[in-house]
Amino acid sequence: MAAIIDGKAVSAKLRQEMKGEVAALQAKGIAPGLAVVLVGEDPASQVYVRNKIRACEELGIRSQDHRLPADTTQERLLELIGELNNDPAVHGILVQLPLPKQISDQAVIAAIDPKKDVDAFHPQNVGKIVQGNYDFLPCTPAGVMALLRSTGVPVAGKECVVIGRSNIVGKPMALLMLHEHATVTICHSRTRDLAEVCRRADILIVAIGKARFVTAGMVKEGAVVIDVGMDRDENGKLCGDVDFAGVEPKAGYITPVPGGVGPMTITMLMQNTITAARLAGGAV
Ligand code: NAP
Repeated sequence: MAAIIDGKAVSAKLRQEMKGEVAALQAKGIAPGLAVVLVGEDPASQVYVRNKIRACEELGIRSQDHRLPADTTQERLLELIGELNNDPAVHGILVQLPLPKQISDQAVIAAIDPKKDVDAFHPQNVGKIVQGNYDFLPCTPAGVMALLRSTGVPVAGKECVVIGRSNIVGKPMALLMLHEHATVTICHSRTRDLAEVCRRADILIVAIGKARFVTAGMVKEGAVVIDVGMDRDENGKLCGDVDFAGVEPKAGYITPVPGGVGPMTITMLMQNTITAARLAGGAV
């Protein structure tokens, strides 16, 4: 039976510590502020934005909520980004993705001041992450690292397999594990004999986007299994990329969905906002 990695508990502990960090900054006259920008009315994005603003309120971080209609032009959005870049009360800028099709995600990400890029998607920040010399880490992979740390399982020297190579999750995840001295393999849709590769993993991190794709036969006995997936099963129920019921008896540690990686992502966004405010305030 695996130990369950409780993302809600880890997240709550970190947020408690962050309240202290916010208070310490406020005592120095720095009030951390996050601007959240949502273009259009995508229901999932609306939920994510609401949760981000609620997390700010809980921690005493000031938030700005910018809602733009779905037919907003790229020019108008870039104009807003320019205003937020120049606003000293805004330390972090988060543009909720995906954007409507008339707007280029890449153009918008590149327009954000890298010092306010709390998603860590700007090419300058991506480059710094590759070099291992960064101010911000992308929120979901950073959350996974915090969950791994909470287990106390050492990462150095371990075989780590990451399934998925997206810019948001898979690629930065693999880099962070490499920085922690794991031996890392990245798998994707063209990987031959995926199950055989996965069975080598001491630490298996799954970010595919396919409900219950990873089954017990793909997992080594005692492995740490981190499920980043947020999927809907055939009944519309939220589930992960890992077949939890089948894999849990075989794994050493496992994250549930919901309640695993999910709660960590917003927590790490809050951490990045606090870091941005600290850096802007001249304190390291
Ligand atoms: P994505 O951009 O769609 O990338 C999926 C990756 O999985 C791709 O690299 C793809 O390979 C690979 N893949 C797809 N089918 C595969 C297969 N049969 N075998 C091996 N690899 C396969 O997705 P993403 O944005 O990284 O997100 C992945 C999952 O994480 C989704 O469920 C998403 O909802 C979830 N997510 C959760 C959080 C959170 O806060 N918990 C945050 C972000 C994402 P190719 O590159 O070859 O196509």
